[in-house]
Amino acid sequence: MSVSIAIVGAGPGGFYTAAALIKSGPDCRIDMIEALPAPYGLIRGGVAPDHQRTKAVTRTFAKIAAHERVAYFGCVRLGRDVSLAELRDRYDAVVLALGAPLDRKLAVSGGDLPGVYGAASFVGWYNGHPDFADLAPDLNVKRVCVIGNGNVALDVARVLVKTPSEMASSDLPDHAAKAIQGAAIQEVAVIGRRGPLQAKFTNKELRELGGLADCLPCTDAEDMPDAVTGVAAGRAKRLAEKNLETFRDFACREAAERRKRIRFFFNARPAEVLGEGRVEGLRLERTRLRDGRAQGTGETFDLSCGLVVSAIGYRMAPLEGVPMDTETGVVRNRDGRVEAGLYVVGWAKRGPTGVIGTNKHDGDAAAAQIALDAGPGGRPGRGALEELLRSRGIRWIDFQDWRRIDAAEIAAAPKGAPRQKLIRINDMLAILD
Ligand code: NAP
Repeated sequence: MSVSIAIVGAGPGGFYTAAALIKSGPDCRIDMIEALPAPYGLIRGGVAPDHQRTKAVTRTFAKIAAHERVAYFGCVRLGRDVSLAELRDRYDAVVLALGAPLDRKLAVSGGDLPGVYGAASFVGWYNGHPDFADLAPDLNVKRVCVIGNGNVALDVARVLVKTPSEMASSDLPDHAAKAIQGAAIQEVAVIGRRGPLQAKFTNKELRELGGLADCLPCTDAEDMPDAVTGVAAGRAKRLAEKNLETFRDFACREAAERRKRIRFFFNARPAEVLGEGRVEGLRLERTRLRDGRAQGTGETFDLSCGLVVSAIGYRMAPLEGVPMDTETGVVRNRDGRVEAGLYVVGWAKRGPTGVIGTNKHDGDAAAAQIALDAGPGGRPGRGALEELLRSRGIRWIDFQDWRRIDAAEIAAAPKGAPRQKLIRINDMLAILD
């Protein structure tokens, strides 16, 4: 008898778990249940459209999906089409690989004005995520404020200022390309509540800004410390040293041939989003570091802007029957085990940190826990899920169906681009009909 395993979420966490189960788990059948037609989660909907090399891992994931022990159930949403309790009844093990799709809230007055977006929705919009197809942000603005000093903030800033020819080899969808190319943006302000030494940008991503065709990165020499102090020795210190050198290279200068700026503001935290009816500016409070934390000084300054993107981290969505840490927004677990029969991987397990490959450790840990708990199995798994979905009239797609949608996107690619993304679920399903 084999063990029936449902993995909910077909992003990196889900695929690395399936890979680990195939390699070293018990004799099992694995069903990957995904809310969207398209697999790959953040690789498709989060990784920036101009970072195609990072997306190459989907080739490995496609081989996993095509493995004889694996079945793909696209367009099946947990909580809408099937409940967690129903899955747990039917499967010996359920792995939650749901990521952290909600934005950490920008908790300041005016934070919900039109024109303020969390990175989850804004990045989802320019990456063609169907849930954000209708976001339609108004980019007819001179300055955009991006809050946060992590790689997501850099992605947003860079995508907004790159030229059409710089984006030609990306998979930026048509609707976003048109909006960004027609935008009036002259400056993207990237705002960190702590100093340059505390920025979480990886140095490669930071340096990339120095090579933009029509945009200069720009820092204020006054913000730059003379040396790296107050940062723990080791990796953090090496990163701070490299970033400091890069920030110094970015010292503000005039360059007539570049029309746009990405300007870094440090030691400034959002105090209020200003505007009547929509965003007109951002009030920032100057901070100083105390015990490594940003402490307000009471001194404020305003930046006028027409768009605010808050890239300050993500949380997992609450899910009935799943214990969550309300502070951190992750599922309570011990090394990936929530309780016997229920496991968690990826950002839902450990919060929104790390690179794609970090998920491999989660997959290995979950597979090991499942092997310890599973016993001989015996729950019906796949057949019972199919029966339930059929009884509800729910249409799901398998991996062959996804391959046809994928082929249609590739066939429609503009010259030099890898694909033209379909951004509406109905348009994807229409390919199959
Ligand atoms: P992140 O690296 O954790 O950065 C979040 C930023 O938001 C930090 O600068 C943080 O400041 C700031 N922040 C948090 N709460 C704030 C508040 N209330 N007010 C102002 N600022 C606040 O997260 P991320 O950028 O969302 O990235 C998530 C993960 O994906 C990271 O591991 C990242 O490296 C990875 N990623 C990688 C790439 C790539 O490799 N190209 C691209 C995108 C994302 P403090 O430091 O002061 O808390």
